Amino acid sequence: MSSHVITRFPPSPTGFKHIGNYRTALFAYLFAKQNDGSFILRIEDTDKARSEKKYEQHIYDTLEWLKIPYEKVFVQSEHIESHKKYLKKLIDEDKAYVSSEEAKDGSGKINDLVRFRNQKEKITFDDMIRGPIEIDTTDLGDFIIAKNMDEPLFHIAVVVDDFEEGVTHVIRGEDHISNTPRQILLQKAIGAPTPKYAHLALLLSGDRSKMASRKGAVTPLYYRDRGYLPEAMINCMALLGWHPSDDQEILSMDELLQKFDLSKVQKASAIFDEVKLNWINREYMMKIPIDEYCGIARTFVSTRLSSLPNFDEVFEKALQNVRERISYFGEIKVIEEAGDLDYLFIDPSYETSSLLCAPKMRKGKEDLMLADLRPLLEKVSALLSEIDASEWSAALIKDTVWPYTEEAGRGIVLWAYRVALSGKEKSPDPFTLSYIIGKNETISRLNKAATSLQQAHNDKSK
Ligand code: GLU
Repeated sequence: MSSHVITRFPPSPTGFKHIGNYRTALFAYLFAKQNDGSFILRIEDTDKARSEKKYEQHIYDTLEWLKIPYEKVFVQSEHIESHKKYLKKLIDEDKAYVSSEEAKDGSGKINDLVRFRNQKEKITFDDMIRGPIEIDTTDLGDFIIAKNMDEPLFHIAVVVDDFEEGVTHVIRGEDHISNTPRQILLQKAIGAPTPKYAHLALLLSGDRSKMASRKGAVTPLYYRDRGYLPEAMINCMALLGWHPSDDQEILSMDELLQKFDLSKVQKASAIFDEVKLNWINREYMMKIPIDEYCGIARTFVSTRLSSLPNFDEVFEKALQNVRERISYFGEIKVIEEAGDLDYLFIDPSYETSSLLCAPKMRKGKEDLMLADLRPLLEKVSALLSEIDASEWSAALIKDTVWPYTEEAGRGIVLWAYRVALSGKEKSPDPFTLSYIIGKNETISRLNKAATSLQQAHNDKSK
C-alpha cells in the first residue's frame, strides 16, 4: 500500500459501547498494524445533549483493559472550528446553502439550516467486505449538514475529521452504510480523498437480537468485572465473523496480527455466544501459573474469608480442585455465595443427625446413628493419624481409608466422614476435602463429630 494506512475507532459517548463496537475497533486496529499503519481513537462527542463523560471514560477504560493501543486520541468537539471552516467554504463555493425553515416541533421557530446542494449523481464504492456498491443519491435530496452556521452536524464532522486525521480506511458497522453516500458526496465537495470502506455486519446477542448500546448491552467491562481475561475477550471478539484458514481457535494478539484477514470477514451477522467465550476463557485460565491464578482468584473471595490466617494455604489447595470446574474467576464468588467455600476455612456447624445419611434415607435409622456411628468415625480418624503429614494427599488418604470403608459399609462411613468435614449434604469427596483442609483440621473435625454423636447418645439414654 502506498500511503500510510490510518484507521480509526470513533465511538460516540452517548451510551456504553458493546462487544460489537469493540470488535470493530479490534479489526480496525489489526488492519492498521498489519499494514504498518496507525490506529486512532476519536471521541465523537458533538451531540452535546446525549454525550456523557462517564461513557467517554468507559471507552478509555475498555481499550486499556483489552490492550488495544491507539496512537492518538482526537476529541471531535475540539475541532468544531475546522468543521465550521469547511461549512463556510461549501457555502462560499455554492455547494451548500442556508435554508430558513420552520421548526418541525410546531413552535413556529425559524431555523437557518444548512443544506448540501446534491447533484444527484450515482456513487459507487468498493466495500472491502461487501464488494462493489452503487447508490443513486437522488433520493437523499439536499440533505441537512448543519443546524446553523455554528452547529455543523454529524456527516460534515466525520468527513472533515477523517480528512484532517488522514484516515485511509473506514472500518465500521453496516449501520453506517447508508451514511456512506452522503459522506462521499461531502468528501468530493471539500476536495478530500475518499477512504476505503469496510462495513462489518452487525453483531447479534445470544438471543439473536441486535446488539445495541442503549439496551444495557453486553460490554467488555461487564466481563472484566466477572473475572474474564482480556486475552480471551480479544480472542473471542476476533472470531465473531472471522476465523483463520486453519480453524485454529485459540489465538493471541500476536497470532491475530499474523493471521487476521479483513477481506475474509463474513458478510452475515455473527452471534456473540457466551458459552464460546467461557470455553475460550477457560483455555486461557488453565495456562496461568498457579501463583498468579491464586492472586486473581482471591480478589473474588470476600475479605471475611481471605483475611483468615489459614486462607492462603487452604485456598491454593482448593483451587487445584476448583480450577478444573470454572470458566471465569467470578464463578468463585458464585461458589462462595452458594456456601461451598466457607467450610474449607471454617469448621462448619450442622445437625448431628445429618451425619447419618441422606435425609430421605434417615428414617428409622437414628438408633444406628447414635449407637454405631461414633466408632466408625473414630476409626477413620485413627487411620488418618497414621499418615505422615508430609505425605498428606487425596490419593494416600483414600488408599488408607478405603479398605476400612468396604469392611464397615462404604456408604455409611463415607457419608459421615464427608459431612463431618463439610457439614453439607453435597460437597466434594472426603478425600479431596481432607487434603484441602489439612491433616490436623481433618482429625479435629472427625473428633468433633464423634463427640457430638456421643453427646446425642448420652442425651437419649437419660
Ligand atoms: N460515531 C459513530 C458511532 O459511534 C461512528 C461513526 C463512524 O464510524 O463513521 O456509531
